[in-house]
Amino acid sequence: MRQRLAKILATLGPASRAPSMMRLLHDVGVDAFRLNFSHGSHEDHAACVKAIREIEKETGNPITIVADMQGPKLRCGTFEQDEIELRYGETIKITQGSDNGSDGHVIMPHPELMEACKAGTVLKFDDGKLMVTVQSNDGQAITAKVDVPGMLSNRKGINVINAVLPMSAMTDKDRKDMAFALTQDVDFIALSFVQTAQDVLDARAIIGDKAGIIVKIEKPSAVEDLDSILISADAAMVARGDLGVELPLEQVPIVQRQIIRKCRALGKPVIVATHMLESMIDAPTPTRAEASDVATAIYQGADAVMLSAETAVGRHPATAVAIMDRIMQAAENDPEFWEYFRRIQLPHKATPEDAISQSISGIAQTLQAKAVLGYTSTGSTVQRISRERPPCRIIGLTPNPKTARRLTLSWGVQSVVTGDPISFDAMLDDIQTVSREKAGLKTGDVVMISAGIPFGRPGTTDTLKIATLD
Ligand code: PEP
Repeated sequence: MRQRLAKILATLGPASRAPSMMRLLHDVGVDAFRLNFSHGSHEDHAACVKAIREIEKETGNPITIVADMQGPKLRCGTFEQDEIELRYGETIKITQGSDNGSDGHVIMPHPELMEACKAGTVLKFDDGKLMVTVQSNDGQAITAKVDVPGMLSNRKGINVINAVLPMSAMTDKDRKDMAFALTQDVDFIALSFVQTAQDVLDARAIIGDKAGIIVKIEKPSAVEDLDSILISADAAMVARGDLGVELPLEQVPIVQRQIIRKCRALGKPVIVATHMLESMIDAPTPTRAEASDVATAIYQGADAVMLSAETAVGRHPATAVAIMDRIMQAAENDPEFWEYFRRIQLPHKATPEDAISQSISGIAQTLQAKAVLGYTSTGSTVQRISRERPPCRIIGLTPNPKTARRLTLSWGVQSVVTGDPISFDAMLDDIQTVSREKAGLKTGDVVMISAGIPFGRPGTTDTLKIATLD
């Protein structure tokens, strides 16, 4: 039973793939694991999934698994001498092909890039460490001026700024990885470098309802088309690594707030990712600025915060999780933590579901209720309750293990797999047991129950019952 409301998503890698380490990470605070398909083999990922499902059995806690696709990450080709120097102010030539590049000449394997580059397009190499501006493109060769110099070595990543690339968010590798991930029954597929809502629809055509879709917002074009992208997705990630290369750095905090606010309004989980405790890849404690960054995401209402290299390849994976957990709990226990949520006005539809979820916060405050227990088939009722950020525990009750696992990513939700009750009285009996066993509640505690009658039929939430544990 966690005391914390927001969730921790940890990336698995060589430092954390041992089953005993995964169990430790879960015990100290990990609610969801991320398999990064930019690295590792299918065998590695399958072994992780198996170990996670074992931990679920041992602990009884549903755990979310996110399969993160590499996406169309552009890379430059190789060089005769393995690297070249880009000198400040020099004009270089960029062409498409598979030969080795040479001094002043970069050769890249991506025809889309030749199509997209116009005078003024900015190309950044190696996570933004080097930068050139395109001067001309005659379709055969691009000329570009070096603005930020440095050494460019084989296969370094390229980010194309201020241009929409004519390419889908799914590569052939992604399609294969996705098909594999779906055989492993993962809970979410994360799509990298999404540019338009169509990218999400294309993925949905493959994924169907087998997994939820997390859109990684890391392209300026995605920020411009944010509303329609978020509407078509199930959850979002503020992928600050690439976002901070593609957008001016100072825009990252603004976009982070914007994405969190929009996801909250839509009732879709949002993850803040990358560099959260970056210094802990080596150091046993984070910087004060990192602690503040994690807390800021929590105050802003993120559903989850993510660890990347800290748990994948870092020297202190479990300590990083434990410290992140402490920072999050401290922010959530700050009496001013709730003030922000109370100020935000959420859009509500004129439906029984929205009316019920909206009223829960007020009732929790007036009656000092300890928990709201929501019966749900698809998870949507409980996600609606979660978006209201009520000041009490949220317990999602579902007969569907897939729903329980997906809900684990949502703010404040503890999900429990349980059968639908056969009658209203049976429901009240079940609630007495679940509240004690899963939420540690006791006689005299007030709880709320949201349900749809008849039980077990999606989209019927119409009942809110207030009960006292006896
Ligand atoms: C990011 O760029 O912030 C991110 C999460 O993506 P990846 O780690 O896959 O590069």
